[in-house]
Amino acid sequence: MAQPGPTQEPGDQDRAGDQGRAGALIRGAGRITALTGAGISTGSGIPDFRGPDGLWTRDPSAERISTLEWYLADEDVRRAAWRYRAESPVWNAAPNPAHQALARLEHQGRLRAVITQNTDGLHQAAGTRTVIELHGNVRTWRCEDCGATGPMTQALARVRAGDPDPRCSRCGGVIRATTILFGENLDPDVLDAAYAAAEDCDLLLVVGTSLTVMPAAGLVSVAGSAGARIVIVNGGPTPYDRRADAVVRGPIPQVLPALIGE
Ligand code: ZN
Repeated sequence: MAQPGPTQEPGDQDRAGDQGRAGALIRGAGRITALTGAGISTGSGIPDFRGPDGLWTRDPSAERISTLEWYLADEDVRRAAWRYRAESPVWNAAPNPAHQALARLEHQGRLRAVITQNTDGLHQAAGTRTVIELHGNVRTWRCEDCGATGPMTQALARVRAGDPDPRCSRCGGVIRATTILFGENLDPDVLDAAYAAAEDCDLLLVVGTSLTVMPAAGLVSVAGSAGARIVIVNGGPTPYDRRADAVVRGPIPQVLPALIGE
């Protein structure tokens, strides 16, 4: 799923007046599509895999548990994946004020959809109804062989009860989370919905993604070409900062609610 995005443009930095401009653009927009990434959930205690404190940064071999080929071929990789999942902070995480601010926008009738790279379900937990999950979600398991599905809590209960590699209860096949692993394509229906939401909005509000992975990066171009204004709220620079109408840096759980207001 990971493809290299555009390279960083030199000279990207905070621009004077962008905070005010971003707030005005958001307040003036009637049909907002949000595009969110790991940076919106780090404030809920979920580490960014690729960030400075991320799992893959600390332990590069951990990437194997997210790679389909390894996961299917190697029971040790699956055992590691289940241990990691059982201990994941996702299960105790709560939405933070940034997730809640987007849910409020939807409640006001001004948010068309949230497109997210996250699999943690925190947008839904905050009350947002239209969530397009580019990389799937961790709440469900699916059997690789027969396609059976079930709640992840059920599979994790088996792991915690001592089954290190729980198998499909119907056919005995390998089960996995309904997230997109490396080596897999994104769901074409999900992708279509994401492009439609990017094309049909008056403001694309980018939150907490470095915009270096497709298709998230491409969605900014799609929205911009269709005439939408672009506001980027992120902890660091993105390759699209120069194309954006406003770029705001800072801690997302504080910055985003302040921009969106009540
Ligand atoms: Zn099965």
